[in-house]
Amino acid sequence: MTAVATPPKKALVSKPVHEQDERSAHLDFNRITDEQFQAAADHMKLEKEIQLLLRTPYRELVVQIPVRMDDGRLELFHGYRVQHNGVRGPYKGGIRYHPEVDLGEVRSLAGLMTWKTALVDLPFGGAKGGVSCDPGKLSRHELQSLTRGFTQKIDMALGVYRDIVAPDAGTNPQVMAWIMDEYGKKHGYTPAIVTGKPVALGGSLGREEATGRGVTMITAEACKAYGMNLRGAKVAIQGFGNVGSWTAKLIAELGAKVVAVSDVFGGIFRPEGLDIEKVFEHIKKTGSVVAMHGTQSIDNEQLLALDVDVLIPAALGGSIDRDNADNVKAKLIVEAANSPVTPRAEEKLNQRGIHIIPDILANAGGVTVSYFEWVQNLQQFHWSLEKVNEELQLRMLQAWKRVYERSTSGHAKLPLRTAAYCEALDKVAQATRHRF
Ligand code: GLU
Repeated sequence: MTAVATPPKKALVSKPVHEQDERSAHLDFNRITDEQFQAAADHMKLEKEIQLLLRTPYRELVVQIPVRMDDGRLELFHGYRVQHNGVRGPYKGGIRYHPEVDLGEVRSLAGLMTWKTALVDLPFGGAKGGVSCDPGKLSRHELQSLTRGFTQKIDMALGVYRDIVAPDAGTNPQVMAWIMDEYGKKHGYTPAIVTGKPVALGGSLGREEATGRGVTMITAEACKAYGMNLRGAKVAIQGFGNVGSWTAKLIAELGAKVVAVSDVFGGIFRPEGLDIEKVFEHIKKTGSVVAMHGTQSIDNEQLLALDVDVLIPAALGGSIDRDNADNVKAKLIVEAANSPVTPRAEEKLNQRGIHIIPDILANAGGVTVSYFEWVQNLQQFHWSLEKVNEELQLRMLQAWKRVYERSTSGHAKLPLRTAAYCEALDKVAQATRHRF
């Protein structure tokens, strides 16, 4: 299963003037995560000095990547690596290939990684990378040249104890293999420089499905906490890349009824529940979920508005915004994607009592197994799949428990997102105070 779904993002707000990258018709993710950070910082009365240090990234790299295309043309791509915070350990985060990637988005995603690694208590900081390109339109040879060029350009910022990369939307284990190979040309065999590699190159068992498995574990816990029964619950999943497809498979195995899924081309709906294995067969034949026999065709907006118990946005950011939030009928939203719910949408959903499991908790399974992969590479020792899944379960459930307790322990109920940020900020702030 590869993740090369590239739906366009929606226009919402204008960019602040300090943004270097001027692109219009684009969601300002930086502003979204800033607002989420601020809500938690205010709630926990975090010192202003610490806020100042934690809000802005430590280092930002913008590079040009010239690629000789198959037709002989020279094309110039732009790549980014933002190292947001490293007080708790080496920078860690994925690399996204998408036409709308820019510095602001990568900066926002890098911050999310800092909070995510702190929340699940991994000894990492946060980083993110990206290349503005459409991987679906590149040949294998062009994709390889681009990846090797990007790796050379960010080489000086990487290191096994400095900054470790991984997959994100639009990249996959093959891209990680090229990164490892290119880095190795200069530094020698260094599998721990990148996680999410093919298992044959030192990747971890269970890494490919880890994000979807984590989403499933957290959804099961949330259902218990909110008095819902996952067995038989109606679930709609937006996005069928690596995260969406694995979530669909694993949640169906727990007895949930996955009634709708979608990809960049559109969606399918079957009120009695979809046979997920048949969806995979259909994708193999046609390249999309669209128009599968025995299902109703819906678009991505209709999927978000379905009368389901659980809605899992697993595509790109900003899919649930102020314009469509009122249409949502689910009782529980699980953010498998990063930043799928905008703050204005979240206000509306909170008012209606809809629970939102935030991205930094819901999709932390991926980076958690990345950590296990890094540890295995450093120790040159392989774990069994059972051990990987057991350790993943332990970390995810502990994180869920801490967030849920924090959200319910005060006088007023705290949104899960603010509770999760408070948990993460506590850890990063504490490490920062010791260092300054
Ligand atoms: N890109 C994934 C995320 O957003 C995984 C990052 C990693 O494994 O380092 O969490």
